[in-house]
Amino acid sequence: KAAGLARPPNSKRGVRGGFVPPFARKAAEATGAAIEAGTLSAKTIEMLGGSDGQLPEALQKLDPNILELVCNEIMDSSSLVQWDDIAGQEHAKAMVQEVVVWPMLNPHLFQGARAPPRGLLLFGPPGTGKTLIGKAIASNISATFFNISSSSLVSKWIGEGEKMVRALFAVAGHLQPAVIFIDEIDSILTARKAEGEHEASRRLKTEMLVQMDGCSPDSSERRVLLVGATNRPQELDEAARRRMPKQLYIPLPCAAARRQMVDRQLGCLGAVKASLSEADLGKLVGKTDGYSGSDMKNLIQEACQGPVREAVARHGSAIAQISESDLRPVLLKDFQMATRAQRASVEPSEIAQYELYNSRHGAHF
Ligand code: ADP
Repeated sequence: KAAGLARPPNSKRGVRGGFVPPFARKAAEATGAAIEAGTLSAKTIEMLGGSDGQLPEALQKLDPNILELVCNEIMDSSSLVQWDDIAGQEHAKAMVQEVVVWPMLNPHLFQGARAPPRGLLLFGPPGTGKTLIGKAIASNISATFFNISSSSLVSKWIGEGEKMVRALFAVAGHLQPAVIFIDEIDSILTARKAEGEHEASRRLKTEMLVQMDGCSPDSSERRVLLVGATNRPQELDEAARRRMPKQLYIPLPCAAARRQMVDRQLGCLGAVKASLSEADLGKLVGKTDGYSGSDMKNLIQEACQGPVREAVARHGSAIAQISESDLRPVLLKDFQMATRAQRASVEPSEIAQYELYNSRHGAHF
């Protein structure tokens, strides 16, 4: 059964009576442009390198609504990330630079036996900086960054995923150098059995594999890198592993990295005042063993609320009257309170599984 367009029964009609699928409306809302089925906003045409209302030839055959989505929801031109913004992960950063950044910066040097892998897999617990690494690669090589989660391909744009993947890779190829970051890639390229597998998911998986093959560096002209991320690497099938031969473990941050995160947010460069002695920092780092980078971020945010709550209690409820100078610095006791609200989100048993997987499949220097 052909999957076709997923059109909800209550779908609305456009101004001129044309069907406007929900995803096109969403893109229209995002750009503020009035999109009708089959038309592209001027902004999108410009983003895609077109002029005079015309798309570049290579993209003309693609569905305009899907192109709008790719440009407005998947292409991410806002975030520049430097390597130093990523605390710790020294092994991963060094390997990523050598394996994919150098070849993107000087493709002629990396041909034949030196050709880079067509895809890179980052695996590890959630919130450890996999997306940040994808963004840092893109920032480092001035590449266009595309960020999509597989679950949205599978569920949000039901039946459209396959077209979306095709358009995504076509746009990336056109705007290269490009980095396509696919989060939760296991949900598309899963080894779980085909039984009961939806026709649309099967075609999505096939399309993804075909497009990944297209990223093959057989020509030094093609500079599109696929970075897949997963926290369930064991679920990937063999075809996916072959296409992402470098699999890099992105573990929980070590003590030094956790300390770096606190220093960056609350040190002399941070916007929030804190008073933490060396001994306090030592205690804090010890207490956060097992925290992910994202747990640390939440913990720091929670601790920073401490002085505000105290000032509110002092001034009654007059939050509007409180100025920054009324706030005391963040202290160790704020972190002690915060650890009750923000605990480590990753179970130690999960870590053992990642480490086992890493010892079997992970790339090591
Ligand atoms: P993942 O893709 O591994 O699930 P992200 O890269 O999206 O995780 O990280 C989520 C957030 O957690 C980031 O935006 C950042 O604030 C914080 N974070 C995670 N890891 C790090 C790290 N190594 N250094 C600095 N911040 C981090």
